[in-house]
Amino acid sequence: MMKCDVIVIGAGAAGLMCAIEAARRGRSVIVLEHGKPGRKVLASGGGRSNFTNLELGADNYLSENPDFTRSALAGFTPGDIIGFLESRGVPFAQKENGQLFLKGSSRALLELLLGKCRENGAAVITGINIKGFGKKAARFNVDTNKKVCFDSESLVVATGGLSYPELGATDLGYRIASRFGLRITPLRPALVPFTFAPEEAHRFSGLCGLSLQAEISCGGGKNKSKRTFTGDILFTHRGLSGPAALQASLYWAPGEELSIDLLPDADIKGMFMKDRGRSVEMQNYLSGFLPRRMALKWCGSFLSSSSKKPLRLHSQRELESAAEALHNWTFRPAGTEGYRTAEVTAGGVDTRELSSRTMECGKVPGLFFAGEVMDVTGQLGGYNLHWAWASGCAAGRYA
Ligand SMILES: Cc1cc2nc3c(=O)[nH]c(=O)nc-3n(C[C@H](O)[C@H](O)[C@H](O)COP(=O)(O)OP(=O)(O)OC[C@H]3O[C@@H](n4cnc5c(N)ncnc54)[C@H](O)[C@@H]3O)c2cc1C
Repeated sequence: MMKCDVIVIGAGAAGLMCAIEAARRGRSVIVLEHGKPGRKVLASGGGRSNFTNLELGADNYLSENPDFTRSALAGFTPGDIIGFLESRGVPFAQKENGQLFLKGSSRALLELLLGKCRENGAAVITGINIKGFGKKAARFNVDTNKKVCFDSESLVVATGGLSYPELGATDLGYRIASRFGLRITPLRPALVPFTFAPEEAHRFSGLCGLSLQAEISCGGGKNKSKRTFTGDILFTHRGLSGPAALQASLYWAPGEELSIDLLPDADIKGMFMKDRGRSVEMQNYLSGFLPRRMALKWCGSFLSSSSKKPLRLHSQRELESAAEALHNWTFRPAGTEGYRTAEVTAGGVDTRELSSRTMECGKVPGLFFAGEVMDVTGQLGGYNLHWAWASGCAAGRYA
């Protein structure tokens, strides 16, 4: 039997931050990890961790309990994680929309987290399989495959979501929550590429690898506000990816349509009217606004007349419907690529059962949650790692 004050399950971003904070307070902390620590930290931001965002607020998160994030975000700001990195001179840079990325490899961030655990006396034990868990009187126990049973006053569940199983994702956190009587809100892969139905797959075959600026909208149905994102979309061999498509996937529900404005910055109807006397072929005309491959494909798929027909021979009606189709291409995705390639899992442990200040479960004193395992999902752009830091730190201050 190994006794300590705090057991943290999961050595990801949230678990390690929580361990550092709790150990700083003088608590004896053991982190139990079944694989290697911080594998998603290493993979994040294409290996350069988009570790926070300077334009951060509760509106950047999706949850059934939308105000839950406010307290933790106020208690751990982008300035705090910047200070953490600067304390060891880990260099970073700002990209568009307030996103902060490391200048070098994410390994520097993981090493900093593990180093701070060591410095403060938090033990990180890897390669542990958890066989059972429970609570007797006021103490938690965790059984493992190592013939060691761990016993603690507080238990912090920081096991992350279900996405990227090859990076260590399991459902243990949800099982622990359910066992203690907590509700799990519906889970689904998010920040994930869409897959095309056969009609679109056929229509857009040959565009794989093509990326363009667009505006993508979803929702707007019953009880749902419409969400619109502007940024790159990327045609893949199975569907649509790129930052704007990934953002939309967070708000999209199966069966819903997506609407895409392929020319968000152009008044194409106005341009058609201005240039309608010209002899230029429609496909060549549109190549001035869209990547040529896209212009040819689009004309072949959406124009009611020949793509080689000169602009001056198009009727007013044809031009109007072409403009409408360019600004409002709607289709129904077949689905998404699922947990295999989703950056995050939307949904999770219902936060209405947790304190927004401490992350502790109201009905099970001493049981805390941190990070993605909770029903808090950030948009693309550093918000998910920031939630891991902020919620991990909040739990570490009270566990
Ligand atoms: C490819 C990729 C890129 C990403 N890029 C970014 C980015 O640039 N910016 C951003 O903000 N977000 C990014 N994210 C999302 C972000 O990485 C996660 O939201 C964040 O890591 C969640 O932190 P966490 O600690 O809650 O969970 P995790 O980081 O998933 O950590 C959970 C830990 O628990 C361990 N664990 C799970 N089950 C068990 C078990 N049964 N027993 C013991 N241990 C267990 C896991 O092995 C893991 O170490 C990315 C995600 C992916 C997959």
